[in-house]
Amino acid sequence: MNYSDNTYAALFNAQKSNQFVVGNTTYKTRIKKLKSLKFALERTYKQEIRDALYADFKKPTLETDLTEIYPVIDEINFVSQHLKSWLKRQKVDTPIALLGSSSWIKNESKGVCLIISPWNFPINLTFGPLVSAIAAGNTVMLKPSEMTPNTSAVMAKIVKEVFEENEVALVEGEVEVSQELLKLPFNHIFFTGSPQVGKIVMKAASEHLTSVTLELGGKSPVIVDDTSNLDKAVKKIIFGKFLNAGQTCIAPDYVLVNASVRSEFKSAFEKYLTEFYTENPSASKSYGRIVNQKHFTRLKGYLEEAVSRNASIALGGTVEAKDNYIEPTLVFDAPEDSDLMQNEIFGPILPVKTYDKIAEVVDYVNSKEKSLALYIFSKNKRNIKYIINNTRAGSTCINHNLLQFLNHNLPFGGSNNSGIGKSHGYFGFLEFTNQRSVLKQHTLGAVDLLIPPYGNFKQKLVNLTIKWF
Ligand code: NAD
Repeated sequence: MNYSDNTYAALFNAQKSNQFVVGNTTYKTRIKKLKSLKFALERTYKQEIRDALYADFKKPTLETDLTEIYPVIDEINFVSQHLKSWLKRQKVDTPIALLGSSSWIKNESKGVCLIISPWNFPINLTFGPLVSAIAAGNTVMLKPSEMTPNTSAVMAKIVKEVFEENEVALVEGEVEVSQELLKLPFNHIFFTGSPQVGKIVMKAASEHLTSVTLELGGKSPVIVDDTSNLDKAVKKIIFGKFLNAGQTCIAPDYVLVNASVRSEFKSAFEKYLTEFYTENPSASKSYGRIVNQKHFTRLKGYLEEAVSRNASIALGGTVEAKDNYIEPTLVFDAPEDSDLMQNEIFGPILPVKTYDKIAEVVDYVNSKEKSLALYIFSKNKRNIKYIINNTRAGSTCINHNLLQFLNHNLPFGGSNNSGIGKSHGYFGFLEFTNQRSVLKQHTLGAVDLLIPPYGNFKQKLVNLTIKWF
């Protein structure tokens, strides 16, 4: 919906007035809403979503179904199975010093929430958090990215059809729209995007002491040691890296491969690149495009800079501006201070560095910001344990990549530069929930004996309490 500037506050106020109505709905009402959203995604709008994503960056239909529609439906199914128990009053023990009382946690809605999403998985990363926000009983304003306008337009239609505006509203528009929305005193902001913009969001949130979830990005390493099944490892890495044309937050950003298997790694890469995308990936229906000219130029620049400084293109390297096409590309020996090794790549270029000892890998990974994901391909349990224990990352997948995103029983998110807070399943529900502590006194308790005026007897009671309870 294209709301004008001065209506954002009106919309916010309408949602604020409605927050207790929505916040006090039963789990059944919330599941009913989620099922309407599911119906819209699965039935009414499925083809429109596929067409919109194709128009935005030639996303293959299968990838749209698998990485946009399916994860949201799966999230709705998971939440629907568990919401009743998540909303139940959670009884907790009460210490003996508070004898005569009982205690519980009430999972209540935070209030009015803002979800700002990126362009790379627009349906998944807008509606995924929305499912958690609705499950927790919030009213929500959504601001999808301006870079995928066709998909945003379809999402706006879906939201308008499924929800009342004072419950969920989607606001389309440029960055300025996000900036205006960020001035409002939301109760929670869930932001998915780059660390740079994450800092802007957190700064704006601090004005109102709004809580934040920041799902950010960064450089996610892949470590391939000399014990891994190289053939399988490379096949999986190619899938993880070139899905969505490399524009995935948890895609492998660079590979650290044991020097003894470097040439084997390259041969396997060549074999599977051709098998997946043919000799000419630009004609392959399984391969997408870079989202816009700005990102195309950025990536082309990264490649040119690395090559001008003696990096070698081991495979791929073709770029075509008219179509924002960048061929799946493998680069060896990019200088450490090149853009390719310093910035999140977020595109289909994979630099490879070699190492000799596993300790070098740990030192290298730790010289960078904590990554959103870290992948290990190895059969050596000692290596796996050593890497996990001596590095920090939002998530790790061993002997595969990306799959950790799909398990709702695992929290998904980063750490520090790659994110604050978690999403998916119960963890996503908690981000949008205020865990209210409730203690109810039933009879006169021991603490009631300790009110002023204080004297020796009361001091002895306190001494006993400290000693025994
Ligand atoms: P981005 O940070 O440029 O934009 C994200 C959103 O913020 C968009 O909706 C945009 O309109 C808005 N925005 C941009 N500039 C803003 C500003 N100055 N003030 C307020 N809002 C602003 O990110 P992007 O290019 O859309 O997505 C790519 C980044 O997102 C990568 O870093 C990637 O790793 C990360 N990402 C993370 C996850 C995750 O789950 N952790 C998922 C997808 C993408």
